[in-house]
Amino acid sequence: MIPKRLAKILNEIHNILLPMVCFGCNAQLSRGESVLCTVCRHEVPLTDYNFRDENAIDRIFYGRIPIKKAASFVFFAKNGVVKNLLHHLKYKNQEQIGGFLGNWCGSVLENEPHLQDVDAVIPVPLHPKKQRKRGYNQVALFAQNIATSISAEYRDDILLRSVNTKTQTKKDRQLRWENTKDAFQLGPKLGSLPKHLLLVDDVITTGATLEACAKSLQGLGAIKISILSMAVVPTG
Ligand SMILES: [Zn+2]
Repeated sequence: MIPKRLAKILNEIHNILLPMVCFGCNAQLSRGESVLCTVCRHEVPLTDYNFRDENAIDRIFYGRIPIKKAASFVFFAKNGVVKNLLHHLKYKNQEQIGGFLGNWCGSVLENEPHLQDVDAVIPVPLHPKKQRKRGYNQVALFAQNIATSISAEYRDDILLRSVNTKTQTKKDRQLRWENTKDAFQLGPKLGSLPKHLLLVDDVITTGATLEACAKSLQGLGAIKISILSMAVVPTG
């Protein structure tokens, strides 16, 4: 019986390490495909926002914090490929999805003039307790691949999360802000300080988390802050 159980465990490990089905539609992936099949990849609703023209993400932060420029890679919807991807990334131990999205987004952004002087890419941090539970920060691989694409440093030592806020999906904007505004602080040993940093998150809903992060980062002095998220919940 043991070999059978062992085989099952090994099979499960294999599935975790090398999922061979599409996270969008469960179809078997072909050779050369990873994470998404070609059909689902074409269904991903890219925002086509860039770091040159004003977009809806810029407008989210107007009058709240001095952000140089902002963009999101894809639109989030209640159903569909993006929902499946982010659900598996956050709750099903599929960290590599962040790397996949980061590679893709990075290849789109690598020649953005606005990002050429970014010297640090900073992930929105998780509270250490939450990160231990999940095993990883779901934004880390995405942010690392973006950093590589634009030749910037990945820095997860600059911004830390000191308050473990509860899941906020059902709270309104004011309540979210009250819960989040003091959640972040600067790291104790910062070394060289960036001049232009790109702050990265998974999904932008109200922008409260990124607003709180940017407020803390202003403690670094005269810095430029830009923002990138994997996804944005479309407004209106
Ligand atoms: Zn598919």
